[in-house]
Amino acid sequence: MNISYAALLEQVKSYQPGKYHSTRNYINGAVTSWSPYISRGFLSPVLVMEQLKEQHSYQEWIGFMQQMAWREYFQRVWQHQGDLILQDLRSVQTDVILAQVPAPMQNANTGIHALDNAITQLYGTGYLHNHLRMYLSMLHSNIFKAAWLPGAKWMYAHLLDHDPAANFLSWQWVAGTFSSKKYIANQDNINKYTNTKQEGSFLDTEYENLKAAIFNAAGQIKPNHTEKWSAPLDQNFDIDTNTVLKNIKEKNQIQIFDINQVLPSQSFCIYNSFNLDPLWHAEVSVNRILLLEPKHLNQFPISEKVLQFVIDLAKTNIPGIQIFIGNFEELIQVLQTNSITSNVSIEDTQSEKSKPIIYFKEHPTTKHYQGIREERNWLFPKVDGYFPSFFGYWKKCERLLK
Ligand SMILES: Cc1cc2nc3c(=O)[nH]c(=O)nc-3n(C[C@H](O)[C@H](O)[C@H](O)COP(=O)(O)OP(=O)(O)OC[C@H]3O[C@@H](n4cnc5c(N)ncnc54)[C@H](O)[C@@H]3O)c2cc1C
Repeated sequence: MNISYAALLEQVKSYQPGKYHSTRNYINGAVTSWSPYISRGFLSPVLVMEQLKEQHSYQEWIGFMQQMAWREYFQRVWQHQGDLILQDLRSVQTDVILAQVPAPMQNANTGIHALDNAITQLYGTGYLHNHLRMYLSMLHSNIFKAAWLPGAKWMYAHLLDHDPAANFLSWQWVAGTFSSKKYIANQDNINKYTNTKQEGSFLDTEYENLKAAIFNAAGQIKPNHTEKWSAPLDQNFDIDTNTVLKNIKEKNQIQIFDINQVLPSQSFCIYNSFNLDPLWHAEVSVNRILLLEPKHLNQFPISEKVLQFVIDLAKTNIPGIQIFIGNFEELIQVLQTNSITSNVSIEDTQSEKSKPIIYFKEHPTTKHYQGIREERNWLFPKVDGYFPSFFGYWKKCERLLK
């Protein structure tokens, strides 16, 4: 999935959004697979929409715009609610039986063919269609009745487009803790959208029976599943971030931060896995640092494969970028210990500065950075604040489009 910015722009220019709305729920529908680039702050949603608006009619792009607005809505919830997105946001998850991720899901042997293939695809490629994410999440939280957070962390860790807001809030939406009811789907529905014809599975039943698909009324697993799935049914899912970072450091030695490579007197632009904007101050000479913070990665662990994707995208598209593995405070300490100063700021070439000048973009993951904070690209900069439901938010956005 690594790509040059120029090649991605070609995809954006040639995309036809007209069929998006009517086909997006089918796994072979007209979806874009751009989320790994949009979530990484690499492809601007504003640029995407300007491009589509320039070439297509309102009717053609409005469905796509609405989905992009879902993304932005989740970003606003995270911006305003912070770490509360890690807790049941609107109501408590009910009917929880398992505390961890069901082993049949981690092992891709649930018995539902389309979903076992989806889990294999997730591990192999790091991408999943939205409907497959919804099915996996509903199977996890509403059929296996597992607590949603470990499942969300499991999926997050393997997604190239991992984003705490879109991920945790979608999982909450499915589990009914950020929506008015739990989302469920039966085998017919899965067959229809995934192009499969499976019959006789435990999901091959009417909706009113789905609640009891796996467990009996007393919460015991039904005897017909015990041959395939051994107890306990759930398993801890864990990623050792220290090992991931150690391996990443060994594999990417050439790009690892070296104080001797710092451009004397120049400012610093700090990138992270949510800001890999290749156009950001591209025209000026600055030190470009990709900051990989253990504190953040311990809170939101990702696999080594996913972290390597982040690094490859940065290496391919941001000339001279160096990787600093450590928290922001440690970076500052290294710069200060080595008496690094910036005499030239991006805006003001005359000023004499005695400290390193640091630029970064506003984001929930950069709240503790110090320096010059710049805005990220919002589709709807004027629609700010916390909205408990998407449709209240979308009404305001839609008005701005007319
Ligand atoms: C359980 C679950 C977990 C998810 N986790 C993530 C995640 O970690 N990161 C992430 O970026 N998205 C997540 N999503 C949202 C959505 O599934 C993906 O953004 C989308 O599938 C990406 O594929 P695409 O680029 O082909 O999307 P397209 O359908 O082509 O849409 C274009 C863009 O619009 C945005 N978008 C589309 N649908 C949604 C949606 N429902 N919610 C939010 N944004 C949307 C994305 O930025 C996407 O790239 C999750 C959804 C669910 C149900």
